[in-house]
Amino acid sequence: MKHISVAIDGPSGAGKSTLARQAAAQMGYLYVDTGAIYRTVALGALRRGVEPSDAVAVEPVLSEMEIRLAYNPDDGLQHMYLDGEDVSEQIRLHEISQHASKISAIPKVREFLLELQRDLARNNDVVMDGRDIGTVVLPDAQVKIFLTASAEARAKRRFLELQQRGQQAKFDTVLRDIIIRDEQDSNRPIAPLRQAEDAVLIDTTDLSLEQSLQAILAVIREGKRV
Ligand code: C5P
Repeated sequence: MKHISVAIDGPSGAGKSTLARQAAAQMGYLYVDTGAIYRTVALGALRRGVEPSDAVAVEPVLSEMEIRLAYNPDDGLQHMYLDGEDVSEQIRLHEISQHASKISAIPKVREFLLELQRDLARNNDVVMDGRDIGTVVLPDAQVKIFLTASAEARAKRRFLELQQRGQQAKFDTVLRDIIIRDEQDSNRPIAPLRQAEDAVLIDTTDLSLEQSLQAILAVIREGKRV
């Protein structure tokens, strides 16, 4: 049986992970957070004393890293394992975001993670979120959504999320980091962040979480019928 793939791409802070997770739960699909995978690779490099922007140093250590994704049977949440250790919390630290953005621009890193992501979609119905899911990872996905919001709205959400996690951050710093990451992710030569031609655009700037979720579910249900 062919599995259903829902690709959700967009810039950081657009609400992708929260909304993709909730949409997956409603549809009974597996939620795959690909940003978490890049974050884990960045942490793996740092732990080996390698600067994530240094492609020459990163490439040889990739094959040493054991990157695994597993679902907690109690809460169904995706956990990331690095060399056997659950690093799901560590990869959420604010500074890891920039490192993930840097390391994800290295072609060998993207190549290294491609099959891992495609395998999940081959074996499960998935809602997969990231930057290049609809364009590169799953170009044949039945449903593609490009989720965005203004930089200010995204910074506000990220800021609140960091506060809830007990992490100190200034709003201006969060906004600046979002703008820098957008710039890096959109302008890299390999798999840049862009809307796939056949993706449906959803702008959540003026939508509540519930309204955004309903908009996504409507696109998924419509896409499944086509
Ligand atoms: O989604 P999240 O903010 O956790 O992603 C962290 C970084 O990983 C992004 O800024 C982006 O550079 C990179 N990424 C990517 N491709 C994906 C998912 C994430 O390049 N599919």
